[in-house]
Amino acid sequence: MDLFSQNCPCCDSAEVDVRTRYTTQNNGTHAIYHCRSCDIYFSDTFATPMAGLRTPLSRIIEVLKARTEGQGLNATARILGVSKKSIIDWEWRLSELKPALTLYGVCHQFLSLVIEGDELYTKVHHNTAASESEGWTIVLMERSSRFLWELNCGPKDQTLFEKALQLLCKVIGQTQDLTLLTDGERRYGNILFAICHEVSRTGQPGRPPKRLRNGGRVRLKNKGSRKRSGQKRPKYQAPVPEHPETDSRIEDVQIHANHVEALNASLRRRNAAFRRKTNMYAKTRDNLQRTLDLQWLIHNFVRVHFTTKVVPAVKLGILEVGLSWLELFSIRYAF
Ligand SMILES: [Zn+2]
Repeated sequence: MDLFSQNCPCCDSAEVDVRTRYTTQNNGTHAIYHCRSCDIYFSDTFATPMAGLRTPLSRIIEVLKARTEGQGLNATARILGVSKKSIIDWEWRLSELKPALTLYGVCHQFLSLVIEGDELYTKVHHNTAASESEGWTIVLMERSSRFLWELNCGPKDQTLFEKALQLLCKVIGQTQDLTLLTDGERRYGNILFAICHEVSRTGQPGRPPKRLRNGGRVRLKNKGSRKRSGQKRPKYQAPVPEHPETDSRIEDVQIHANHVEALNASLRRRNAAFRRKTNMYAKTRDNLQRTLDLQWLIHNFVRVHFTTKVVPAVKLGILEVGLSWLELFSIRYAF
């Protein structure tokens, strides 16, 4: 899978050649390709975030950099002298790359992944009780690379967890060894088990037991007092039955570390809608998700991580080098 493939968008044939070139006012020269198989013509900007943009990309990138480093929408519009509508349009263009890049990630094979699951919360539209907010954001972060598999918002209900864990189930299919560590929320284990199990036929009479797919492990941290009724509870537990061939040992040290907490802090700093105690709420859930998708994109593929000093997608092994902002604009929405 090539992120910058110039194959025909219609038939995916590589039998394409440049027919003509054209120069845009602000964004350089582009090529018109011709596909020999199905005889269509297409521009190299076809179905990319760049298609039809007239503002210079350097200017757009400057604006989006300010946005992804934590500047609010109104402030950015005032300081850089662009309309809010344009900023929102540019953010949509990039955020819609998320499905394609997620697919790109899931196409790879992984040796071993340790994923932390957590939720953080902000207000959407108006102040409500936390339980009624649509601003819950589920984070699934791979520990050593800091790659964010999921960053999705909505009401804290079954659907939110299901969507995130369906992706995780696909990732389990691409690795021999995946551990999900979560902090207290039981739904991770239960829902993952419901979507991602296999039935082990033992030859014994009765209904065969279900187990988590081979290689998948879930560990839940036990919160609260460990000295209830004088018994010492283990620090963590395995909430769902695992495949017999899965190695069930995980060292305690590995479980105790928590990197998502650090990410949460960075998200609150970098996404204006996550600031506490302000009136800068996201107006709707779609708008919040747009800014999250943009964060997801930049965090995973562009920005060098503060601790690891590497772009997360590179550390995870799905890219050789990080992507530049300019390159993001020339990736197609669908491969
Ligand atoms: Zn074609």
